[in-house]
Amino acid sequence: MLFKSGFVAIVGRPNAGKSTLVNTLVGRKVAIVSPRPQTTRNRIQGILNRDDAQIVLIDTPGIHKADHVLGRQMMEEAEQALDGIDLLSLIVDASAEFGAGDRFSLEWIRKCTSPVFLLLNKVDRISKPLLLPLIDRYRKLFDFADIFPISALTGAGTFDLVNAWVQRLPEGPLYFPAEQFTDQPERFLASELIREKAIQATRQEVPHAVAVRIESFEEKTDPVRIRATIYVEREGQKRILIGRGGETVKKIGTWARKEIQSVLGTRVFLELFIKVHPNWRQNPALVRQLDWHRQLERLAEE
Ligand code: GDP
Ligand code: MG
Repeated sequence: MLFKSGFVAIVGRPNAGKSTLVNTLVGRKVAIVSPRPQTTRNRIQGILNRDDAQIVLIDTPGIHKADHVLGRQMMEEAEQALDGIDLLSLIVDASAEFGAGDRFSLEWIRKCTSPVFLLLNKVDRISKPLLLPLIDRYRKLFDFADIFPISALTGAGTFDLVNAWVQRLPEGPLYFPAEQFTDQPERFLASELIREKAIQATRQEVPHAVAVRIESFEEKTDPVRIRATIYVEREGQKRILIGRGGETVKKIGTWARKEIQSVLGTRVFLELFIKVHPNWRQNPALVRQLDWHRQLERLAEE
């Protein structure tokens, strides 16, 4: 049997549904999802394994005009995701108005030399007759290899999409062991799940200001002991995260612990700290420290 494999990058505006799609295709949570834009900060690889193929899916931070150090690093992450890929997939929210951000995305994908698929996402939210004019509009703007209406949330249309990707992928090796579903280290998954829960538990202001750093991760113990710090930029945000009588941080801790346990398949003891670090998003050193690629390098040096 011919075995196909390769790298498929998923790009698109914030909130288009990139992380949701990667999770649905991988069949487990590898990327955090949020109704608030710009949640994904790093490139994340989710691995889709079939008997006849292995697709390494690259989830990327949303394409947007960056205005601070963190934003610029996010856009670098998105650009680096295009290096050495086999296929590019631009995902758009078909239920939202076509706007300047979509035009910017189209400009952006012109940098890519591999075939580009267009995924019209969130079709569960729109009526069919709206789809054809949208497809027409995009066809005129770019020469897509193929166009698929999908729902990343329900999985509708994704079976055909994956088959089409596999057809276009070259014959190739297993890049990862067939049972592996992500390239992320467990401690990064843990920090992302904590961040997701902190975003879920708070509103407005706080989400973008949240960063999570794992201080220690003792995996040889039962339960696995994890100590993590949630960074915010202001005292007011810290108060919101702590909540009345500590109820918010307790909720974050409980939610996060449950999901980390299910991802790791072990019991977890989670300790959370909250610290204020004014303007960390403007601080290159801290932004770098929070980047898991660099965290891995640091671990390797230890
Ligand atoms: P990203 O910023 O592109 O990674 O977008 P996310 O995957 O974080 O999704 C943004 C929001 O859109 C979340 O609230 C998702 O639940 C929602 N979403 C994603 N895909 C779909 C879809 O196919 N249908 C609907 N109705 N909502 C979706
Ligand atoms: Mg995302």
